[in-house]
Amino acid sequence: MSSDWTVGKLQRWGVEFLESKNIDEGKTSIDLILCEVMKLERIELYLKFDLPLNVFELNQIKDYIKRLVNNEPLQYILGKSYFYNLEFVVDKNVLIPRPETEELVDKIVNDNKDKSDLVVLDIGTGSACIAISLAKNLKKSKVFAIDVSVSALDIAKTNARINKIDNIEFYNLNILEKIPKTKFDIIVSNPPYISNDEFGKLDVTVKDYEPEIALTDYGDGLNFYRRFYEIFDKMLNSDGVFYVENSFEQGKDLEKAFKKKYDIEIYKDASDIDRFMKGRLKV
Ligand code: GLN
Repeated sequence: MSSDWTVGKLQRWGVEFLESKNIDEGKTSIDLILCEVMKLERIELYLKFDLPLNVFELNQIKDYIKRLVNNEPLQYILGKSYFYNLEFVVDKNVLIPRPETEELVDKIVNDNKDKSDLVVLDIGTGSACIAISLAKNLKKSKVFAIDVSVSALDIAKTNARINKIDNIEFYNLNILEKIPKTKFDIIVSNPPYISNDEFGKLDVTVKDYEPEIALTDYGDGLNFYRRFYEIFDKMLNSDGVFYVENSFEQGKDLEKAFKKKYDIEIYKDASDIDRFMKGRLKV
């Protein structure tokens, strides 16, 4: 049964409605919701603005918009996200991949593009966005991805399957308690680095929907780095390198602490923030 709504009418109404509810990026959200429900490419929305919506489609869209107004991130509503040119399934058990993290992956890929057969570890893999992008872009690599959350690992495995990645293995392991037995050429991690205090100040779209365990260590935000400092020398091959993401105010302190044991380079993200630390064993 068709309704008296068309693609164009819904677009116009949706943008205004979301604006009145103070939801950012309303235009993009409405377009992507319409694309998903109507199975259209974005450009087609503008060519098929007269296309009528049936009642089922209209209800589905209403439900999605209601969730947006409740501050749920669009990626969870649509169940997918994009990272490093790949599509990833996401749900509330995994963090939504961030653009800064793409920069981390890009740096690793560029630093290592002339090497092959690297053995890589991703700690706290979540959706496996980092692990899968590296498995795809590092020649003949073998990637191990660990996470403390079994439900995150389910999503991670789904993502490996849909992206047709087979040079990856997943393990349920809590890095704060155990360490893997193998040694690695590259270790990468985007750990939960938000302090308990900062967590309370996060945007509701993050705080109320993304998994707490992926965001905060419930302490000062440095618990994972303290552990990394202790164990990375035991886990890296002699010429191995680690790359970690950190929050903007942690860069300098991390550099000072890690310098005692490792050769360190802190580097900035596209917003000019000290966001990443690269390190290797001192020679
Ligand atoms: N590795 C995943 C990401 O970068 C998850 C990180 C996390 O859960 N802290 O998105």
